[in-house]
Amino acid sequence: MTQLTPEESRFLARAVALSRKHMHQGAGGPFGAIIVRDGKVLAEGWNEVTSTNDPTAHAEINAIRKACRQIGDFSLSGATLYTSCEPCPMCLAAAYWARVDRIVYANTRIHAAVIGFDDQHIYDEVAREPGDREIPMLHVPSEEARAVFEEWLGKADRVEY
Ligand SMILES: [Zn+2]
Repeated sequence: MTQLTPEESRFLARAVALSRKHMHQGAGGPFGAIIVRDGKVLAEGWNEVTSTNDPTAHAEINAIRKACRQIGDFSLSGATLYTSCEPCPMCLAAAYWARVDRIVYANTRIHAAVIGFDDQHIYDEVAREPGDREIPMLHVPSEEARAVFEEWLGKADRVEY
């Protein structure tokens, strides 16, 4: 366990408050998140899976999307993701894609599993070879698909990320 500064503690408490408020308002599961950079809250997010029928509408994903729109950049480099619960594999991956500097969380994936949100299964699946996963994955090589990658490399105005 790590000690947070008083300011950091307030940010984490805000993520937890969001999880409670929007869970009670019927938005979705009990999860909240905020993105902070240079002491400024860029965006807040909460789980909206059941209210929007979007299985990817987790608190962290929503906060990352809002923060990026807010700053007009696909990178959240220098930012901290405060979340009421340890991110699931999807949100953890999104945090990596967004290049956040740090993740601070309150509840753990074990706490989440106890109330019916079992991320461990997905963490286990990620670690397996594609052919060994619960969802069948078929690798079908395509010359055209490879050609598109070559075209990307040759695209003069490509924006790297
Ligand atoms: Zn998630």
